[in-house]
Amino acid sequence: MTAPLIDPFQRAISYLRVSVTDRCDFRCVYCMSENMTFLPKKELLTLEELDRMCSTFIRMGVRKLRITGGEPLVRRDILTFFQRMSRHLDSSALEELTLTTNGSQLERFAGDLHAAGVRRVNVSLDTLDDAKFARVTRWGRLPQVLRGIEAAQDAGLRIKINAVALKGFNEDELFDLVDWCGSRDMDLTFIEVMPMGDLGNEDRVGQYWALSDLRARLAERFSLTDLSHRTGGPARYVRLEETGQQVGFITPLTHNFCESCNRVRLTCTGELFMCLGQEDMADLRAPLRAHPDSDAPLEDAIRRAIFRKPKGHDFDYSRQRPDGQVSRHMSHTGG
Ligand code: SAM
Ligand code: SF4
Repeated sequence: MTAPLIDPFQRAISYLRVSVTDRCDFRCVYCMSENMTFLPKKELLTLEELDRMCSTFIRMGVRKLRITGGEPLVRRDILTFFQRMSRHLDSSALEELTLTTNGSQLERFAGDLHAAGVRRVNVSLDTLDDAKFARVTRWGRLPQVLRGIEAAQDAGLRIKINAVALKGFNEDELFDLVDWCGSRDMDLTFIEVMPMGDLGNEDRVGQYWALSDLRARLAERFSLTDLSHRTGGPARYVRLEETGQQVGFITPLTHNFCESCNRVRLTCTGELFMCLGQEDMADLRAPLRAHPDSDAPLEDAIRRAIFRKPKGHDFDYSRQRPDGQVSRHMSHTGG
């Protein structure tokens, strides 16, 4: 184990998110435009290279690894990658191996993911209505996702539902989503929509539903108690006293949470983004490929990158326009 990764603001970096593909079987309206151009497959890190990257980060103090995308479960042979990473769980170098998924392939993969040591999965789901689901994902089918969630629970995976709060879209489903998750013993977190990537004709500011407003509506039916515990991530939690459920809020717009940021993000081509909301990145593929027999240059590149980690993002809609927007889509960096 080498010296821990500490950024210029004294934040220890212990969490790596890895986008293993930029491709997806959905085209969510807040995430992608209808016509996306994806990276040529030859640009991607191989599974062996991804293993080397992640293992290097783990050696440097990363304790939690989240696999994301694009849709991680559409990458060919991705299960092999999970199976390889499980050796770091066995050795206790890694505390947690998780993934964020749209759920479309979970029915197929749930049992094998559990066998590889995955215990918790975040599933993105913004509506429980078939027609609205088809509309927001453009290509998705709700029953397939619901079957995936059920299979995951049957396999022993703990599910957290992530719902993007969307103005005029799921405002009317707030209590349905809360009740549905509560009745299935699933955690629920709402996310504010962030200005990332060109969406074609979609109006980003028009999609934005502030979680301060969502929270106030929740308080009309439930007594909310703020919980002080944090899971190391950006979410803040409340307990609904009437049901005992916990609901999380990820509020990059109404409440910036960057001061406690412990994470960096690796793309499927080996770019390291030190902040989701900034353009700066470090190319880790070059030192990885140039030195097949030594990880020292890669470690050096990682340390230099962490030293450039910015204080935070600049997302802001207060002037009724998406200020602080970054050019890449969320699917590029991984949510
Ligand atoms: N395909 C997987 C999924 O949907 O869970 C993983 C990748 S997706 C980019 C990760 C998360 O980012 C999802 O929960 C999605 O809802 C969220 N997301 C995508 N675009 C977003 C945006 N512009 N603002 C906020 N969240 C976004
Ligand atoms: Fe695909 Fe996830 Fe983006 Fe939806 S949010 S288009 S499922 S990557």
